[in-house]
Amino acid sequence: MGQAKAEMMRREDLRNLADEVALRAKAIHECERHSGIYLTNSDPDAERLAYAMGTNMVKNREVDGSRQEFMDAIKEAISEAGWECPSCEKDRHD
Ligand SMILES: [Zn+2]
Repeated sequence: MGQAKAEMMRREDLRNLADEVALRAKAIHECERHSGIYLTNSDPDAERLAYAMGTNMVKNREVDGSRQEFMDAIKEAISEAGWECPSCEKDRHD
């Protein structure tokens, strides 16, 4: 496996882990009808908890990356979670 590919997969793993942390902290939730679509809970306390959990995971060496990288990944996971599931919205208009 080439180095660029390995780096891409490492970043993908980081992001998947970040989604998991944000879910567990209840900063985001999955659409009940569409798996893999995450929606925001818009809860600053839950978001703080997600970052705290992420920090602990980096300290415990559960994360293949730096603290900054993982914090950025969690931020991305939270900020990319929308208010409304695009698939649900589409279903309604069909
Ligand atoms: Zn949906």
